[in-house]
Amino acid sequence: MLQISDGQCGSCRHFGDGIPQDQLVQIRINGTAEHGTIGGCDLATNATMHLKVSPIGSCDGYEAAEAA
Ligand code: SF4
Repeated sequence: MLQISDGQCGSCRHFGDGIPQDQLVQIRINGTAEHGTIGGCDLATNATMHLKVSPIGSCDGYEAAEAA
C-alpha cells in the first residue's frame, strides 16, 4: 500500500483522470492507494501531454483536493 503525503499527487485536486470516482474518494479519505495505481493529471500544462502519475508523485502545480 502506498502512503500519500501532503503535496503528493494522490492528495492533489488535479489527480485522478481514469480512476473510478469511488476509488478516488477512498484514496483522498484514507491517504493510501494500492501499488500500481496510476491516474491522469488534469492540470492544463500536464494534460496536454496526457501525463499519468502515481499517487506518490508530485509537481509544482500541486493544489490540495477538497476532502471529498
Ligand atoms: S502532477 Fe502535479 S498537478 Fe498533477 S496531480 Fe500531481 S501534483 Fe497535482
